[in-house]
Amino acid sequence: MQGLMQDWPLLCHKILDHAAQQYPDTEIVSRSIEGPIVRSTYARSRQRALQAAQLLAREGFGQGDRIATLAWNTGRHLEAWYGIMGAGGVYHTLNPRLFPEQLAWIMNHAEDKAIFVDLTFVPLLEKLAPMVKSLRRVIVFTDAAHMPETTLPNAIAYEEWLAQADGDYQWVSLDENAASGMCYTSGTTGDPKGVVYSHRSNVLHAMIAVSPNAMGISANDVVLPVVPMFHANAWGLGQSAPMIGAKLVMPGGRMDGESIYELLDSEKVTFTAAVPTVWLMLLQYLEQTGKQLPHLKRVVIGGSASPRAMTQKFQDNYGVEVIHAWGMTEMSPLGSLCTMKPVYSGLEGDARLDIQQKQGSAPFGVEMKVTDDENVELPWDGSTFGRLKVRGPAVARAYYGGTGAEQFDEEGWFDTGDVAHIDIHGYMQITDRAKDVIKSGGEWISTIELENLAVGHPDVAEAAVIGVAHPKWDERPLLVIVRKPGKEPSKEELLAFMEGKIAKWWMPDDVAFVDEIPHTATGKIQKTTLRDQFRDYQLP
Ligand code: ADP
Repeated sequence: MQGLMQDWPLLCHKILDHAAQQYPDTEIVSRSIEGPIVRSTYARSRQRALQAAQLLAREGFGQGDRIATLAWNTGRHLEAWYGIMGAGGVYHTLNPRLFPEQLAWIMNHAEDKAIFVDLTFVPLLEKLAPMVKSLRRVIVFTDAAHMPETTLPNAIAYEEWLAQADGDYQWVSLDENAASGMCYTSGTTGDPKGVVYSHRSNVLHAMIAVSPNAMGISANDVVLPVVPMFHANAWGLGQSAPMIGAKLVMPGGRMDGESIYELLDSEKVTFTAAVPTVWLMLLQYLEQTGKQLPHLKRVVIGGSASPRAMTQKFQDNYGVEVIHAWGMTEMSPLGSLCTMKPVYSGLEGDARLDIQQKQGSAPFGVEMKVTDDENVELPWDGSTFGRLKVRGPAVARAYYGGTGAEQFDEEGWFDTGDVAHIDIHGYMQITDRAKDVIKSGGEWISTIELENLAVGHPDVAEAAVIGVAHPKWDERPLLVIVRKPGKEPSKEELLAFMEGKIAKWWMPDDVAFVDEIPHTATGKIQKTTLRDQFRDYQLP
């Protein structure tokens, strides 16, 4: 027997329709690339998204066509996203921090036909465009007055372009499984891999994200997605915020401590999300100026592990609750969030921080398990670690073009490439990337745990741990440290600080001091480069 309920396809543009109908005057505030703070509303942005969709259709872009964006988080970028999807196209966010050759490779692989680009990235795109065979239209997110001289083919200023349409347009009707967007993982090894979202997966992901055990945002929140739309969809906030009618604040291209503080303060932001490096800059700014965060209630920290000291500072010094989260591009991206179940909700101080070091539990819609290398499921005991595997309606089932097939098994599990353990209450903790874990005498050492510990030292700005070849143990940990300006902690001091907090055989064999640790395009420590740098390092 079949249910007798309506078949109401889960389509992304319905999110914007809902926002415009129920919260027409709720604002989308952006720091524009031209400089000033600009304001729109859900009603106005929907109107402009309809105009964009109408124009894309008029110019012959059809269902399934990939339309790239190379832009910061702004209201214009968000409108364009909905315009692309509403015309049946597939938004393809490009990470401007990648090398031009990588970007050209990705654009060719996706066969992007048009691109929306910020003023900031016009020079970059001028280098790329001749390498991208499929590209036939460029729309620059600005107005005619700010439109630069450019060698880009068929380029027009966004405002001039939008003015050519009245928005009298019906979103295309689509199957909910139609592709809505694309994003390539930065691929620290091998070529980047394309993840293709569907309307259904994006809508379900947004519903999962807003639920109280996850991000728990509502129409009463003011949401600042500092995490870029090109970094795993701004963790879904471009869909979750309109779904529940939260006011959106978009940071544009400025993510330094002062600029973020200004927006948090002037727009009375209650909820924000970004990677630890961004929060490091904000906390430094707050410490230097003595400013406070009276409006901010919750901050999501993810993309890399949130250092314990960071979680503690937000909570103890500024009264802001930290939600540690884990996810990946392949998961739309949310996989787990560290909100407190009743069993942990009464904890305080160090005991609470111990739990918050974990990446949290899976919301409904994410199944999780850890296995050994033979795919045997490991117990949820909070210490046995193995390969983390996931499945769910917003998890990829393949990469675009079929690469990386070995990461997907016949039961639908996706091997995340992360190493983790899960505790008896379902709280998962990442201990490493499978390719970064140190294998010493046949046993695994978690580099993330060592790094977290080392950055807890007051004189340490950043820490990375890598395995260095060792004649007896195969590999031993080397701690690489960037010191805080003006501080000179010694190797002995740092090792003494770590002593007793970890198993003896996990203790790094040596400490190397560097001026800078290399990062990937999404702000993670680039361990491959670091390992190359220390390839011939002689441990004492
Ligand atoms: P990319 O690999 O392109 O940078 P992602 O942002 O999708 O793309 O990276 C996902 C990976 O980031 C995860 O598999 C995991 O290794 C790491 N990661 C994400 N969040 C956390 C976290 N809270 N703690 C530790 N690692 C994390």
